[in-house]
Amino acid sequence: REMKPQPPLGLTDIFIAVKTTGRFHKTRLALLLETWISTTKHHTYIFTDSPDKDISSEGFNIIVTDCPPEHSHQALSCKMAAEYDHFMISEKKWLCHVDDDNYLNPGALLSLLTAFPADSDIYVGKPSLDRPMRAQELLEGNKTRDVHFWFATGGAGFCLSRKLAEKMAPWASGPRFEKTSAVIMLPDDCTVGFIVEKRLGISMVHSNMFHSHLENLLLLAPSDIPKQVTLSYGWLENKMNSVELKGVFTRDEDPSRFRTVHCLLHPTTSWCPVALKS
Ligand code: UDP
Ligand code: MN
Repeated sequence: REMKPQPPLGLTDIFIAVKTTGRFHKTRLALLLETWISTTKHHTYIFTDSPDKDISSEGFNIIVTDCPPEHSHQALSCKMAAEYDHFMISEKKWLCHVDDDNYLNPGALLSLLTAFPADSDIYVGKPSLDRPMRAQELLEGNKTRDVHFWFATGGAGFCLSRKLAEKMAPWASGPRFEKTSAVIMLPDDCTVGFIVEKRLGISMVHSNMFHSHLENLLLLAPSDIPKQVTLSYGWLENKMNSVELKGVFTRDEDPSRFRTVHCLLHPTTSWCPVALKS
């Protein structure tokens, strides 16, 4: 019997959610808008807590949530819930979340997701620990239960297939995500892992192609950098932790190295130096 042909997965089938906050619009988000988001503009959705005319007037999709502009578990879970709910009403096939200090390589992301069977239950990302997370689940009558599960660090980015996202609805849709987060008293990214692994019994797919600034980014070989799905930068033990990549931008001009990476991947970008185009 002939198989029904599936249209190949395209980049625009991916709902890319970027989490940010008002005070990072200029200091972090602007760099992403100039680099990778400029190539994924129409299917990238920026979740923030304050409106920004400069950004919306440029045609970027900006979603202003009612979430408080705080780093509290509740505030961050509120944004994750908004990402989930907006994805669910979209027609996209994948939800991929990143933070505003991540560089996303859309080509590498598409290759990764294309390799999974269509319509499968996939939760893929980088585990933040080398062992499962341990938590206490609050039960009725003040009882608790020890639970162990893997979760993907939000700061490295992760993806959920639509099939799996649909199964998560009883614990993730509307106000339920924040309630589930409260049941284990952990942040948003742990809550996603808890729902997938403990509520649904589906194992996370571990990938080493996602990177947060919690790992030593200097350890990434320059030749491997263009193949990674995500990169990050940030302060680690009083030093700037970012990938080591030579290019025409100095460390002062490009401390995150995101401009350097972007020019390597897209050398014809207007602000990239001509020297790199050879
Ligand atoms: N963030 C937020 N509200 C806040 C603080 C941070 O939405 O009040 C977002 C921030 O924009 C980023 C993510 O949460 O996308 C993680 O923040 P950050 O990188 O500052 O902290 P980390 O957890 O990586 O140390
Ligand atoms: Mn961060």
